[in-house]
Amino acid sequence: MFDVNKIRSDFPILSRQVNGQPLIYFDNAATSQTPNQVIDVITDYYKRLNSNIHRGVHKLSQEATEAYEGARKTIKEHFNAAHAHEIILTAGTTESINLVASGYTSLMKTGDELIISALEHHSNIVPWQMLCERTGAQLRVIPMTQLGTLDMDVFESLLSDKTRLVFVNHVSNALGTVNPIEEIITKAHAVGAEVLIDGAQACPHIKPDLLDLDVDYYVTSAHKICGPTGVGMLYGKENLLNKLPPYQGGGEMIATVTFEKTTYTGLPHKFEAGTPNISGGIAFGAALDYMNSIGYGAIASYEAELLDYATTVLKELPGLKIYGEAPEKTAVISFNVKGIHPYDIGSILDQMGIAVRTGHHCAQPIMDYFEIPGTIRASFSFYNTKEEIDRLIEGLRKAMAMLQ
Ligand SMILES: *Cc1c(COP(=O)(O)O)cnc(C)c1O
Repeated sequence: MFDVNKIRSDFPILSRQVNGQPLIYFDNAATSQTPNQVIDVITDYYKRLNSNIHRGVHKLSQEATEAYEGARKTIKEHFNAAHAHEIILTAGTTESINLVASGYTSLMKTGDELIISALEHHSNIVPWQMLCERTGAQLRVIPMTQLGTLDMDVFESLLSDKTRLVFVNHVSNALGTVNPIEEIITKAHAVGAEVLIDGAQACPHIKPDLLDLDVDYYVTSAHKICGPTGVGMLYGKENLLNKLPPYQGGGEMIATVTFEKTTYTGLPHKFEAGTPNISGGIAFGAALDYMNSIGYGAIASYEAELLDYATTVLKELPGLKIYGEAPEKTAVISFNVKGIHPYDIGSILDQMGIAVRTGHHCAQPIMDYFEIPGTIRASFSFYNTKEEIDRLIEGLRKAMAMLQ
């Protein structure tokens, strides 16, 4: 039994008021809310364990290290990686992608090509453009269709023995499209290319099996999966991570340091210079435990219900157009109302306590494709309800009456 009211009681923020109205939080694709089970782990860390990890001979340091490395194991189990040391804890998706893109600088050969998709978040575009500037590599783009899906025929025609890396998001944050990553991975591997999947938008809704996917790199952020901000992961296959040079230099990532020569330590610490976000890493593990206690199957079917309901009732509004209607979508709806700027609607909804996102959602190429400046995006989570969607519709009707 999926008891949404019981689930909502785990999230203290959901009972606050905004502008005198009960908060309706529909900006889950930007960041998710945090349940007590995760908040408590963070406060408990500072109340009982706070110390620096890995180096300490004393009890606090040992317990903090155990908790941090325990979280790495939880993350490894959740994503079904072969080894815990293939999980690199980073500041999040953006840092994970920059780490890989920076590492490939010395690994690229002349003539290498990179394939990207038209559906990417800026954080999966810009680091690769910077890599191209450093190395002269060429960036090729898989185009999108009116439905907001990838044109897979063009993808196949772009693949060649020059293709070095393919990077695509698992789910588009702007449109909710679930991309066919299994097919992308298989076809890229067939020409000897490596694949990085940006899972930031997928992991709140889908539990990827990394061994089964046979993906080379998979990155995500904890804050979209009920965890804290500023922590995330880079998963990489052991043999690839061993070839990748370190990203930042500093403490924790070295084996020996002299002024003549420094040698680096092994995985995962080679990529984890400096004192990490210790409480964040531990809370990342707790967030995955929380998600699994609800269950991804239950989450997927409940969110699909919300998406169907919201799509149906939104379409009844005159002049409303939905962008991105892929057959396989997570609970994200991007839309516009004819003749009204998205920002104006967003501001009126905010007055009613309803949080949506407006703008280009860090995915300007998608907006350019549809020839619009931006959209209004309502993104749902398993703690949202149909009643909240009804209030959104009511809010939109009011906004339209005021602005049209
Ligand atoms: C949110 C998001 C990112 C960026 O994540 P950060 O936590 O800001 O680093 C990248 N890609 C997608 C698809 C996202 O949804």
